[in-house]
Amino acid sequence: MRTVERTVCDPNCHANPKCGLRATVENGRIVEIGPADYPIEGFENRICLLGRARLEQHEHPGRLTKPLKRVGARGAGEWEEITWTEAARLFVTTHKRIAAAHGERSVSFQQISGAYGLLTRNSPVRYASLTGATVIRPSGIDFGVAKGLEAMFGIPASTYFSPGGHSHDDAINSELTIIWGGNPAVTKRVDQVALRRARKAGTMLICIDPVQSETAKMSDEWISLRPGSDGALAWSLVHQLISTDRFDVEFVSTHTNLPFLLDAEAATVMCRDTEPLVWCAARNTAVPVSAASEPVLRVDRSLDGRRIVSVFSEIERLAAQFSADAAEQLTGVPADVIESLATRYIEADPAAIRIGYGVDRWYSADLSARAIAMLACLGGYIGIPGGGVSLEGGNQSLPIKTARFAMPGQRRPALLSMMEADSAVIDGTPYPVKMTCISLGNPFNQVKPNRNRVLTEHIAGLDFICVIDQFMTDTAKWADLVLPSCSIFEKDDVVVDRFVQLQQRIVEPVGEAKSDFEIFRLLAEEYGIGEHFSEPPDVYLDDILDGDSPQLVDVTMERLRREKVVFPWPTNDPYVGFRDRVFLTPSGRIEFFTEHLRAYGAELPYFREPIEASPEHPLFERFPLVLLSSHSRHRIHSTFANLEMTKRSEPEPVVRVSPRDARTRKIRDGEIVEVVNDRGRVAIRCAIDETIRDGCVLIREGHWIDDFIEGDPYGLTHDQHSPTTENYAHYDVLVELRRIP
Ligand code: SF4
Repeated sequence: MRTVERTVCDPNCHANPKCGLRATVENGRIVEIGPADYPIEGFENRICLLGRARLEQHEHPGRLTKPLKRVGARGAGEWEEITWTEAARLFVTTHKRIAAAHGERSVSFQQISGAYGLLTRNSPVRYASLTGATVIRPSGIDFGVAKGLEAMFGIPASTYFSPGGHSHDDAINSELTIIWGGNPAVTKRVDQVALRRARKAGTMLICIDPVQSETAKMSDEWISLRPGSDGALAWSLVHQLISTDRFDVEFVSTHTNLPFLLDAEAATVMCRDTEPLVWCAARNTAVPVSAASEPVLRVDRSLDGRRIVSVFSEIERLAAQFSADAAEQLTGVPADVIESLATRYIEADPAAIRIGYGVDRWYSADLSARAIAMLACLGGYIGIPGGGVSLEGGNQSLPIKTARFAMPGQRRPALLSMMEADSAVIDGTPYPVKMTCISLGNPFNQVKPNRNRVLTEHIAGLDFICVIDQFMTDTAKWADLVLPSCSIFEKDDVVVDRFVQLQQRIVEPVGEAKSDFEIFRLLAEEYGIGEHFSEPPDVYLDDILDGDSPQLVDVTMERLRREKVVFPWPTNDPYVGFRDRVFLTPSGRIEFFTEHLRAYGAELPYFREPIEASPEHPLFERFPLVLLSSHSRHRIHSTFANLEMTKRSEPEPVVRVSPRDARTRKIRDGEIVEVVNDRGRVAIRCAIDETIRDGCVLIREGHWIDDFIEGDPYGLTHDQHSPTTENYAHYDVLVELRRIP
C-alpha cells in the first residue's frame, strides 16, 4: 500500500516556519521525502538538505532500539539490553532514592534544542513538576544577545527576541540590511532566500564578520573586524551619529529612556513619586516625564547641590571614547569604513540589523547586543517595516499555554540555569543535584564548554545519568541508562511558529523506541502518578492549544488531524516587531540605562575586551589565535553529524587558518596539526583558507568526538560566564596551532 503523508521537521534550525515534509509511505516504510504544501502561497519547495536527510536519519543502522543499562565503567561502552519495565523501575527507584537522600530538587531534567514539538519538549517538565524535581531552563549557549535585548526591550530572553524582531521576508522593505556576526547563507537554510530576493530587489546587504563567510560573499560589502570587538564598532557608530546630531530626536525622546535624569554620583534614575524625571526645556527644571512638554536630551548640570546628567549625555560621553580612529585600533576596521557605514546606516530609508550568534558566544555578548541595538533606536528604525533589530526571524507570538501541561495544578519544578546546574553538581550550590535526565540534546559534545572538566567533575559528580536519544551520542556514552526515542516520523506532536503544524506518527517506531511523551508516561506510571499521563496525546495537545488567543480559537486537534497545517493569522504580511511601540521594560521605554544591572557594572552597555581572546590577555603571548567554531551547513550543532550524507560532504573535521598564519608556522595545506591551549589539545587536518582573518582559526562545531584524530576541540573552551548573560563564551578562547613533530 502507498500513501502520502504530511508531517513536519522540527530541529533547532530556526526556520520559521519549520518545514512541512511530504513523506511517501509504502508498506509501512518511508520511501521518499519532499517538501509539503502550505495553505497559503509563498512557502513552496521549502526544504533543505537536512530535511531530506531525515529519511537517512530515521533509517540509520545506528538507531537505538532497546533500553540500555550500563554494565562496565562509565564511558566504557559496555551495555546490557533491558526491557522497558526494567528501565522504568531502574529510573524511578534511583529517582526516589536520590530524592530521599538529597531532596526532591536533586533530580534534574534537561531538554536541549533537538526538537520543538510541544509534547516532546514539555513531557519531562510535567514529570519534573509532579515530582518536585529541577528543570534546567534555556541558557548556556546562544543566550547572551537575547539577554542583552531583554534588558533593553523587555522581551524575555527565552523567546530569543522573536516577538521583537522582523521576519526574514521583511528584508525586502529595507534599503540596507546589516547582517552582524551571522551566516544565514548557511544557517538560515530556507529563510535566507528572503535575503537573496531582497538583494535582487535592491536591498543593500552588508555583512560584518571576522570571516569571509558564505553570507559575506553574497553581500554587497564585507566588513571584517577583530573577533569580539563588535561592541567597540557599535559604540563608534553611535559616536558618529550622536557627534554629528544625525539621529531621530523625536523617537529617542518619546520611546527611550535617553532623556531620563541620573544622579551622577549614585548612578540611579532620579524619580518623583516613582516617576522618572527629565529636564523640561519650557520650564527649565526637572519634571516627571509625563509632565514634560519638551524633554531635553543633553543634560549635565547641578541641581540642589547634586550633579545630574541625562542618560543621553552619559551615552554621548562614553561614545566619545570611540572615535573612528580609536575604534580602528580596537576593531581593525578602517576609520573611513566606520564613518561611511554610519552615514549609509542613518541615511537608509530604512535600515535593518540582523544579529547572529557570532556576536553571542562572548563573555560580554549582552553588552555588545545592547550597543548594536542602540543604533536601531538612534535611527528611529524600531517598529517600522524594513527596520528594527532582529536576532532570529521575528514572529507573531501565539500565546501557547504550555504551562497547562507542563505544570499541572500550578505545580512547578525548581529551575536552574545551565551554569547553576553545573555548580549544583560540582559544588552542591545552590543545592545538590545528583541525578540528571537529558533529552533532545548532546550537551557533553560541545554545549558544555571545557569538556575535560565536564568529564572529570560534572559527570563524576552525578550519581545517575539517563539519556533519551535516537543514537549513542557523545552524551549517551556517559550515561547509566539510555532510553531509545522516536524519529520525527514515529510520534504525534504539534509544532507551533508562524503556522501550527501536525507532526504525526506515519510509521511504527523502530525496535522498541518510544516517543518522549510515551517514555514519561511510563516513568510516571512506575512512580505512581500515572493518572497525570493517562490521556491520549491529542487530549493534552488540545488543552495546550486552548489558549486565549483569537488566532487559536478554531485550532483544535480535530482540525489539525484533518488539515495537518493551519495558518492562524489574518494576513501573511512580513512580521514587524514593536509596531505598537509597546516595550515591556520597567519604564515602558527602550532602556539604554538598565538600573537593575548596576550591581554587575552593566547599567550601560560598556565595551569590554573579551575575557580571554584579547591581545591584552597574558595567555596571548603563548596562544595568539582566536578559536572560532561556527556552524556547518551539514549539521545543526551535533545533530545529523553521524549521517553518510554529512560524512560525504565533510569527510573529516579541519582547522581553517589564514595563509599568513600558516606560513609563519611553516604549516602546509592538508597537514595534520595540533590545536592546543592549557586546557586541551586536538590533532586535526589543516586547511589553508584565505577567507579566514589573520589571528583566527576556525573549526566548525558539531563533529562527534570520534571523528577527531586525537582529542577534541570542545576541551579547548573555558566555562567562564558573565552573570548577566547566562551564556558560555565559546568563541572567547585563545589557542595555538602547531606542526606535530
Ligand atoms: S532542517 Fe531544513 S528542512 Fe528541517 S525545518 Fe530546518 S530548514 Fe526546514
